[in-house]
Amino acid sequence: MQVFIDELKKSGFEGDIDDSIELRDEYSHDASMFEMMPQLVVAPKNAADVQRLVNIAHKVRSQIKELSLTARSAGTDMSGGAINDSVIVDFKKYLNHIENIDRDSAKVQPGVFFRDFDARAKEKGVLMPTYPASRDLCTVGGMVNNNAGGEKSIEFGQVANFVNELEFVFADGVARRVRPLTRAELDKKMKQKDFEGKVYRQIFELVDKHYDVIKAAKPKVSKNSTGYNLWDVWDREKGIFDLTKVIVGGQGTLGFVTDIEFRLVNARSDEGLLVIFVKDLKQLGELIKVVVDKKPSRFESFDDNTLILSIRFMPYFLKFLGPVKFISLVLHLIPDALLLLRGVPRLVLMASIKGNDPEEIKQKIHSLRTELEAKKDYYGISGFEEAPYERQGEKFWIMRRYSFQILRSKVKDKHTAPFIDDLVVSPEHLAEFLPKIRRIIKKYKLFATIAGHMGDGNFHIIPLMNIELESERKKILPAMKEVNELVLKYGGSLSGEHNDGLIRGPWLTQMYGEEMVGYFREVKDIFDPENLFNPHKKSKATWDFSMSHLREHF
Ligand SMILES: Cc1cc2nc3c(=O)[nH]c(=O)nc-3n(C[C@H](O)[C@H](O)[C@H](O)COP(=O)(O)OP(=O)(O)OC[C@H]3O[C@@H](n4cnc5c(N)ncnc54)[C@H](O)[C@@H]3O)c2cc1C
Repeated sequence: MQVFIDELKKSGFEGDIDDSIELRDEYSHDASMFEMMPQLVVAPKNAADVQRLVNIAHKVRSQIKELSLTARSAGTDMSGGAINDSVIVDFKKYLNHIENIDRDSAKVQPGVFFRDFDARAKEKGVLMPTYPASRDLCTVGGMVNNNAGGEKSIEFGQVANFVNELEFVFADGVARRVRPLTRAELDKKMKQKDFEGKVYRQIFELVDKHYDVIKAAKPKVSKNSTGYNLWDVWDREKGIFDLTKVIVGGQGTLGFVTDIEFRLVNARSDEGLLVIFVKDLKQLGELIKVVVDKKPSRFESFDDNTLILSIRFMPYFLKFLGPVKFISLVLHLIPDALLLLRGVPRLVLMASIKGNDPEEIKQKIHSLRTELEAKKDYYGISGFEEAPYERQGEKFWIMRRYSFQILRSKVKDKHTAPFIDDLVVSPEHLAEFLPKIRRIIKKYKLFATIAGHMGDGNFHIIPLMNIELESERKKILPAMKEVNELVLKYGGSLSGEHNDGLIRGPWLTQMYGEEMVGYFREVKDIFDPENLFNPHKKSKATWDFSMSHLREHF
């Protein structure tokens, strides 16, 4: 590695170069259940530094076998996407400037924390709406590269829908703008004799030649982060070729994003919340349909385990809320505590309903409640809470958003093991699907919380395990196999938003078949012929390699 460090210094690299054990140790984990010790951590100061990194890596690769570059922003990736065994490139330390925010778009560097960007955007009355539940922990670069989604995805989809343009450092070490092209612009690009021209030519050839197979491979669910988003690159009818689609969600396996132009929407959101407590899941499918027909702007859920843990670790919320809000939250929870005496609901559903003014919101929420109440026993509902004003619904949003974070830091004897953490099946199958999933969880004696985006059928199942024990590790493969088979039987996706990384990459063939995975690998080879960027992930992941890096140190 010394030769890489020396050459980097000679090149005029302005950022930090650090091989201290403390920093390498810190960067050996993300929010996944894996660990990998990098040899070096670098923090580029600017896009020119990022280009230097790629160029020097090429130059010294023959001397350092297995040299690779893995991007990292806030490191909250749950799939193992942000760790690797060679050089980690930290984008959050310096590439964290908000360049400008307009009425309908914004330019930001990848290392900007979403919470900072969001606060500035809100001052201007605008919003990038497809933020994840980790909105207070993650950066926009991680959101782009995972194709994140969240509570507003039912209305707005995923990050891919909100990326206008990217600045992207290709494998030849050159930063270029990537944006949707007309056919004439594409033809011009494909005539270029450089690396960029080659990438456009080869990707176009791939998606045009196998057009129908690729379009048909698009998962038939409303959210997906697995594979490379090839089906949205080339639209023959509109004559639009958009390479951003395959970069977004690429987990830094194709190159580095150094600048992002987001599309924005109006931040004004006049909505209220109806909370529905469900004790019997038998008619869940029908219940979901009734709510979805009302076109909720958000439709989320969490289970009994999440609720119990949230109440048990309530003081932890202090950190997020501050003392005044905390006291009001505790007071608000008293009715819920009484409700618990009547039995813990198996599922808490949260449906946000929009309206033109507070009176209309109140009336719409109440009328949905009345409609459901009329068939309360049939739907298995044990109670409701109407929260027409934002403040009233806050405690539920906090439980929904922070449950995973609480599990990670609070349950001391066990650790979160995300391996079935992001599955998606169409909501109409949920009534049948959820009890089956619960049976698998029970069979493997996994203590797990289930929370999710009900409107999209996207569920986060997070087992708590002692993964350092061989007996626990042994459960992962068979349990994951059973869950994945069930998800695919219902035509679902193995990941709606958390992406493939080390954990789901090895299952892509099961989900897409050999032919499509062959095309994914071609994409990787076209963009990154020397396998320099984030190796062992997505289509290049193998089960044995991933499992040999299961976390042992906590
Ligand atoms: C408590 C919790 C809740 C979560 N909830 C959600 C959720 O609701 N929805 C959701 O989508 N995800 C969720 N996640 C996963 C994760 O937080 C998000 O995907 C987030 O957007 C990742 O951002 P990050 O800055 O932490 O990225 P990182 O973890 O640093 O990186 C993510 C991936 O992007 C790549 N990358 C980062 N920066 C660049 C760059 N500049 N160029 C190229 N590649 C890059 C990395 O190599 C890695 O593969 C959750 C995670 C936690 C811990």
